[in-house]
Amino acid sequence: MADCLFCKIAAGEIPSSKVYEDDQVLAFKDIDPQAPVHFLVIPKQHIDSCAAIDAQNAPLVAHIFEVIARITKEEGIESFRVVSNTGEQAGQSVKHLHFHVLAGRSLAWPPG
Ligand code: AMP
Ligand code: ZN
Repeated sequence: MADCLFCKIAAGEIPSSKVYEDDQVLAFKDIDPQAPVHFLVIPKQHIDSCAAIDAQNAPLVAHIFEVIARITKEEGIESFRVVSNTGEQAGQSVKHLHFHVLAGRSLAWPPG
């Protein structure tokens, strides 16, 4: 999608610090980390947010979670949090579906 930051990162038009890539998914370090481990996992295909997950793209979302489990296992991360801010009030600043993976410190609950 034109003018989408994460579409441009997925296409390699904007550089990122890559953690994992396959034909459907890219994982890269967050530019403003909120924990010692903080990376984002995105579908290469543009999906607006969690609110746009449907029966058609659900297998891709399932694949993203498989990738998160694989990366964390490979990096020896046993405890982590997966977050996807959806919409203005939840603080979504990039309108391309992404899952934050946070680890490496105690994470408060409930979140702010
Ligand atoms: P959210 O605010 O939940 O939509 O998350 C967007 C995330 O993207 C924020 O944590 C930003 O720090 C991160 N971000 C924005 N631009 C970049 C970039 N060029 N490379 C990596 N992460 C980015
Ligand atoms: Zn996009």
